Amino acid sequence: MERVDVLVVGAGPAGSTVAYRLAKAGHDVRVLEEHRQVGHPVQCAGLVSKRVLDLAGSHASVRKPVHGAAVFGPSLGSVEFRAPEPRAYSIDRASLDLELADRAARAGARFDTGVRFDRRREDRDGRVVLEATRDGATPVEYSARLVVGADGVASTVARAFRLRRPVEILPAFEAEFPRSPGDTDRVEVYLSNAFAPGLFGWWIPDGQGGARVGVAANADGTSARHYYDRLVVYLSRRFGTPLTSPTSYLASGIPIGNVPRTYGDRVLLVGDAAAQVKPLSGGGIFTGMRSAEIAAGIADGALRAGDLSSSRLEEYDRAWRREFGEEFGRALALRRIFTRLTDADLDRLIETLRSSELLGTIVAFGDIDFPTHVVRRLLGESPSLVRLMPKALGAWLRSRPEYQVPDLA
Ligand SMILES: Cc1cc2nc3c(=O)[nH]c(=O)nc-3n(C[C@H](O)[C@H](O)[C@H](O)COP(=O)(O)OP(=O)(O)OC[C@H]3O[C@@H](n4cnc5c(N)ncnc54)[C@H](O)[C@@H]3O)c2cc1C
Repeated sequence: MERVDVLVVGAGPAGSTVAYRLAKAGHDVRVLEEHRQVGHPVQCAGLVSKRVLDLAGSHASVRKPVHGAAVFGPSLGSVEFRAPEPRAYSIDRASLDLELADRAARAGARFDTGVRFDRRREDRDGRVVLEATRDGATPVEYSARLVVGADGVASTVARAFRLRRPVEILPAFEAEFPRSPGDTDRVEVYLSNAFAPGLFGWWIPDGQGGARVGVAANADGTSARHYYDRLVVYLSRRFGTPLTSPTSYLASGIPIGNVPRTYGDRVLLVGDAAAQVKPLSGGGIFTGMRSAEIAAGIADGALRAGDLSSSRLEEYDRAWRREFGEEFGRALALRRIFTRLTDADLDRLIETLRSSELLGTIVAFGDIDFPTHVVRRLLGESPSLVRLMPKALGAWLRSRPEYQVPDLA
């Protein structure tokens, strides 16, 4: 049996961030990753804010700074925003994951790749005994003072510790096209109930002449692949030419909603396992990494104090919700409205946003990590936008006091 202080399950951005911080603080950290290679297979469109690069302490994964976005409605009407400075970055996601794992390993964390966590067996002498499988065949046992579930959307750790799962998992499907038409300086977002009810389709330049094209939608029984096929038809109208010869596909899920508890006795959940995902975009790299930093701070204190009880670890839950709870709450409320809009409403929304004053507000206040800030301002400026939503909710969204975007510098 392998004895460690902290067992982190999952070597994605959240897991490697926790591992880095705790190893740097002097704890004995082991990371289990079920795949043999960290970062593969890639399950992401790779669009992040500068905050992610700052948290990673490196810009090495950046393939392309992105200055703007175009949002297209069901009838192909569009609205475009462009800022002088980069507003997002298209990254090589596998390279980000590798960089973060490498940083954690240099700080002293050890990685067991090709090892899948299976179950929690028992609690014994102030430790948790866990069972895992190496290379799909060999049983391995670990004994840890603390377990961190950073094992993504289908978290086995959450199940093993009886922590409830997020309410909604949106199926997603994406393909990579090595050659693609389109403006490589911006991302494109596509709204339509025909191919993306509940979220959107996307086109993201990969910085090498190609693009990542995908869609995520409500789990309504239709497969994400089916919605993706419809998106590709729509895109051939959008670009006036078919998108051909994709080199790879990915299918995954995006957790949206509120996990009521992200801690328990000797356990913390971070990243997608805790549904720390922006409800309006499905992006979770920034929120997961930042929450992982918070988790590491609380865990460090708890390990030193020798108190890993759920009452001590609850502080983590409160701390990450202090940073993201308000934004997630507003975003979930907006999402409830968004999912009820018809295609005609979505076309009207695009038309309304085209008015020049609103465009100026979007460029000035748009923030991909805290999108409800700009929505709140837009609602204050545009009666036509307010008309698209139920009265009481519109008033609630506009009346909530401004809150501070955390300063991570
Ligand atoms: C199609 C798609 C596009 C996306 N695009 C973006 C985007 O552009 N920008 C953005 O910010 N976010 C995006 N996201 C969301 C983003 O990918 C996730 O929020 C992010 O990866 C979460 O990081 P994580 O570390 O919590 O989990 P993950 O990155 O999912 O890492 C979990 C790790 O745990 C491992 N694991 C799982 N179970 C076990 C087990 N039992 N034992 C051992 N290891 C295990 C997995 O192999 C994986 O390596 C996208 C998601 C999808 C599906």
